[in-house]
Amino acid sequence: MKDTVNQIAASRDITLEQLTRLLTTDDRETIQHLFDTAHATAQRYYGNKIFMRGLIELSNHCKNDCLYCGIRRSQQGVQRYRLNQEQILDCCEQGYKLGFRTFVLQGGEDGWFDDNRMCDIVAAIRRQYPDCAITLSLGERSRDSYQRLYDSGANRYLLRHETADPAHYARLHPSEMSFDNRMRCLQDLKEIGFQVGCGFMVGSPYQTVETLWQDLQFIRSFQPQMVGIGPFIPASGTPFADRPAGSVETTLRLLSLIRLLHPPVLLPATTALGTLHPRGRELGILAGANVVMPNLSPREHRKDYSLYDNKLCTGDEAAECRVCLDRRIRTTGSQLVVDRGDAPTAKLKVENLLN
Ligand code: SF4
Repeated sequence: MKDTVNQIAASRDITLEQLTRLLTTDDRETIQHLFDTAHATAQRYYGNKIFMRGLIELSNHCKNDCLYCGIRRSQQGVQRYRLNQEQILDCCEQGYKLGFRTFVLQGGEDGWFDDNRMCDIVAAIRRQYPDCAITLSLGERSRDSYQRLYDSGANRYLLRHETADPAHYARLHPSEMSFDNRMRCLQDLKEIGFQVGCGFMVGSPYQTVETLWQDLQFIRSFQPQMVGIGPFIPASGTPFADRPAGSVETTLRLLSLIRLLHPPVLLPATTALGTLHPRGRELGILAGANVVMPNLSPREHRKDYSLYDNKLCTGDEAAECRVCLDRRIRTTGSQLVVDRGDAPTAKLKVENLLN
């Protein structure tokens, strides 16, 4: 079966049958080979560098009601909050001092952060931190809104596609949300010039090997700069509260496969992975991930941004997270770097392919 891994790496393609075998096999030698090949591929593009993104959770208000989400509109018992511009800039200041050169502004779909407010915030960060990348993760917006945010200085946008199967999408979301609109958003973002991230949960309700295969094919054709995947973790109070969590092992195998199918991708070892396994993020890096996203949000609001239960690091100060992550990453033989961590340019991609 090691040959299967080599074939996937060489062709950058995978059949449904190959995926089924690699997700179900107990052959540790094959799986170790998969992890090692993916890790070596990441190193070919990025050396032993691991990029950090400073996550700023600016609002837990959301107009949507995604069935899996712990801050969905109808969720009871959530202390709702919004950060103001000053608080957001304070997070950036603290993050910059700690070596962060990418700020990720993430929030629910909160109409209070309309284009004028958001563009002001982005422009203020751009003015103060011209050497930093600004990533937004604010859900579905109009093309015009994305364009204005881009023109204000944002560089990247994360919008998980959640599933590339429209029927599966409909089982995870209320009827007013549409798969087609999600795809339209991703396409608009790409055309405008954002570095775009998509992604999905591993082990979400109703997911099958077929839907996962569709996800991998979508990634192959869309060619995003980033892909965020993490295990599904049920959130109490949601319709999926009693569903089992996704598997860490399956997530690691999929991280490796994504690295092999789309080698230059920026691939986070997610907080969800670290929540389900004490060394989840380290294992993610050894399986081909090359990004971590610690939290820079004010500590008093961290626990209120719980998309799922028992989220990691909600009590730590940003500086503590930085030191802890530094130590953890070094155990993998890699190192956290002070760098924007952009996707490699076309020139670098070609050089790496030739070597
Ligand atoms: S997943 Fe995002 S869009 Fe959906 S309810 Fe949660 S915060 Fe809102």
